[in-house]
Amino acid sequence: MNSNHVALDCGLPIEERISELVRLWTRDGRGTDHLLTGKAFYAVYSWHLKYWTDHDIAWAEFVAASFDAIGGRDSWDAMLRERAACGSCGDLYRLENIGLCTGCMEYTCYACGAHGSCTGEIL
Ligand SMILES: [Zn+2]
Ligand SMILES: [Zn+2]
Repeated sequence: MNSNHVALDCGLPIEERISELVRLWTRDGRGTDHLLTGKAFYAVYSWHLKYWTDHDIAWAEFVAASFDAIGGRDSWDAMLRERAACGSCGDLYRLENIGLCTGCMEYTCYACGAHGSCTGEIL
C-alpha cells in the first residue's frame, strides 16, 4: 500500500498533491505507507529537484524517505534508463529524455512539447 494515487491525481495542482502527501505522511508517523514508487515518485522527485528550496523541510524529508525506499541512487539511475511512451506521438524515450506533464500525468516528448489543454507544466 502506498499513496501513489495521490501523486497521480490530475484533479489537483501537483503542489497541492505533494502538500497532501506530506500531511498524510506526517500524520501517520512518517512510516513507509505513504511513500511513493514508480511514476508517482518520478513526478514528485522531478518537481522537488526544481522547486524544493521554496518549501517546508518536511517536503524534502518526505522525498528523501521515498528516495531511500525505492533503493536510492542506483534505483533512481535505473529508473531514468527505463523507457516511456510519449502520450502524443507514441515514440519511446528514456525517462531522462522525456518530459512528464503535471496536468494530465502523461509523458510528452520535447518534440511534441507542452499540452495546450493542460494547466500543468512539463517536468
Ligand atoms: Zn511526442
Ligand atoms: Zn498534459
